[in-house]
Amino acid sequence: MSTIARVEGSALTGVWAAVVGQEPLVGTLKPAIDGARRWLAGRDSSAMTHAWLLTGPPGSGRSVAARAFTAALECGESGCGQCDQCREVLAGSHPDVTVVDTAGLSIGVDDVRSLVLKAAMSPTRGRWSVVIVEDADRLTDQAGDAMLKSLEEPAPHTVWMLCAPTTDDVLVTIRSRCRQVSLRTPPAAAVAALLERQGIDGGLAAFAARASQGHIGRARALARDEGARARRREVMELPQRLTDPGACLRAAANVHEAATEDAEAAAAPLEERERAGHRDEWGTGTRGIKVRGEQGALSDLKRMQKARRTRLLRDAVDRALLDLLSFYRDVLALQLGSDENLVNEEHLKAVSELARRTDPALTLRRVDAVLACRTVMDEHNVAPLLALEQAFLRLRTQ
Ligand SMILES: [Zn+2]
Repeated sequence: MSTIARVEGSALTGVWAAVVGQEPLVGTLKPAIDGARRWLAGRDSSAMTHAWLLTGPPGSGRSVAARAFTAALECGESGCGQCDQCREVLAGSHPDVTVVDTAGLSIGVDDVRSLVLKAAMSPTRGRWSVVIVEDADRLTDQAGDAMLKSLEEPAPHTVWMLCAPTTDDVLVTIRSRCRQVSLRTPPAAAVAALLERQGIDGGLAAFAARASQGHIGRARALARDEGARARRREVMELPQRLTDPGACLRAAANVHEAATEDAEAAAAPLEERERAGHRDEWGTGTRGIKVRGEQGALSDLKRMQKARRTRLLRDAVDRALLDLLSFYRDVLALQLGSDENLVNEEHLKAVSELARRTDPALTLRRVDAVLACRTVMDEHNVAPLLALEQAFLRLRTQ
């Protein structure tokens, strides 16, 4: 596995090599691993922290860091990356490690109750029973309450690892019981180096790292998928096209349509797997047998899939907005006399033209319009198309 081997150009080895651009975080976690070993050896009863909260911006690698940290805890050599413990944790097959991946949907009280039971069990193969909750910001209030006691008085060999974008996203009762560590936005050079190690050409890696602004998953998509690059180019051409209200509304519809297609592409394979799983579990399928409870479970599944599609659509719209934001940010940078570290070097002509034709105050208003669009979608649940129309009308070039 290339991600866990020693990596050229990175000081981090073993399981830590996959934790891209997070040297400060790793510097904090390594002593914690040593503490855990002292605790296990009975040499230091206060050296173990059983509840962790890992925060960091989307795409910074929170769950990768949580897995690496877990592997290092389970490993006999603090995360060698080679032993069975390390490999199984990283492959997601370690019997003592539970990963809750909700794909952005909420985590309810029943889910948490079963997690609490799992967390309380003694490890069977490893040193610790670890529960990684990838989206702790999605815990409902009730679910959070159900988790409190286990966080406060965990079984001796239990470790909770909660991940979230920021501490503010996590229930205050939860976060106050965790030790908080944070990831930074990974530097573009570190992301580019990662892509190159994965076989991406240097120029393309540099572009993808820059354009993704430190979002590793986005960088990977831009590096590997011509379709993702084409959609980004279209977004970058928008600012010049928003010349009249009709054009603004058409652009909003186009962005919405592209986002819908993106969401569809991401959801379809997951949904197909889930439907097959449902058929296996309930023994329905070709014979069309009716089993009591099956229809209810199917409705639950459909509801969950619909909620996920909504989430995926919003995420895709948000990606377009972030790209657009980077364009206006570059315009503003030029207007303020700085041409260093432009995100969109390949669109320099369009960026400079807009910078010349407008002034910083207007650019700031446009930045505001894009930010407001994200807020109304995210916090006020405004339909993405409506939010986009509103924003694009405000971006109109006079
Ligand atoms: Zn190991």
